[in-house]
Amino acid sequence: MTAARAAVLNAPGTPLSVETVELAAPGTGEALVRLVASGLCHTDLGVLAGGIPFPSPGVIGHEGAGVVEAVGPGVTAVAPRDHVLMSFTSCGGCDACAQAHPAYCDTWLPRNLLGGLRTDDSGGITRDGEPVAAHFFGQSSFGEYAIADVRSLVRVADDADLATLAPLGCGVLTGFGSVRNVLDPGPGDVVAVYGSGAVGLSGVIAAASRRPARLIAIDLVAARLDLARELGATDTIDASTENVAERLAEITGGHGVDKSFDTTGSPAVARGALDAAAVRGTVLVCGAPPPGTEIPVDIQGILTGKVLRGVTMGDTDPQTLIPELVALHATGGLPLERLQRRYALEDIQQAADDMHHGVTVKPVIVY
Ligand SMILES: [Zn+2]
Ligand SMILES: [Zn+2]
Repeated sequence: MTAARAAVLNAPGTPLSVETVELAAPGTGEALVRLVASGLCHTDLGVLAGGIPFPSPGVIGHEGAGVVEAVGPGVTAVAPRDHVLMSFTSCGGCDACAQAHPAYCDTWLPRNLLGGLRTDDSGGITRDGEPVAAHFFGQSSFGEYAIADVRSLVRVADDADLATLAPLGCGVLTGFGSVRNVLDPGPGDVVAVYGSGAVGLSGVIAAASRRPARLIAIDLVAARLDLARELGATDTIDASTENVAERLAEITGGHGVDKSFDTTGSPAVARGALDAAAVRGTVLVCGAPPPGTEIPVDIQGILTGKVLRGVTMGDTDPQTLIPELVALHATGGLPLERLQRRYALEDIQQAADDMHHGVTVKPVIVY
């Protein structure tokens, strides 16, 4: 039994409360990790607001980084004192996992989002002996310790800067992976990225490396658009003051956008991206609005070969992409420092509010 401070969500719509919880020993396929840092992601905000269902009381958080303290029976992939980044988990045995698409694992939802239970249906975290939902993305990183699925852990070097690298596990992986693995823009393409949060800006970085003809960033916050430009966007549109459709038509000379990446989860934005797409253009959506949210599509409007496509976690395998992203950061190609601001655990609700209001692109809790 390990006691730890953790940010507990007592009910959706209420502020996170920093309390002492107890963690069980790691079970088969699990490790006890001492957290050094954790990023906040929009999926966390979705749970906090109640838009994404998760039991309460619960502990969420899914961009953890830390040091393995102990491992459960049969674990060989990591050992105590290993430094790890934490990402989503998967079963490792279904067809999707076997084909290196673990984001489309048969049991992705129960393992990562729903229920708050470990694979053996026990909890793992208690508060005064009462169960607390956890195991969010196989980790629940908003606490000083986590019981993590080993499949959600990626080893990094002992001298890796864990606080800086923590957001690789979800936001950066999703943005970078979605653009590089799925949208796959080529030289000469016109690319647009909707939303300049951590996911969108990571997408901008990935798209810029393909040398597109135009790389257009669209957001509501001028400071985030400035950052997008520094990271490789050739054009920016401030949707709070400019007409996006008119500006896209102007920038593309009426050609439209070949490859669009919509990170906003907004039906109106996705519809606008489809309308602005070029002949045979693709719109890739990764945002997660509440279940049941629909995108209105004009069928006539997509008969010119347009494609609307969805993606989860950038369709990546964290075990291969995260080491690549760590290496890219080391050579200056992924300036994570530009995106983040650090907070103490006690200030986690402030961090969530700052993210919600666009004040901070990527809050990182440092334990
Ligand atoms: Zn699987
Ligand atoms: Zn996330």
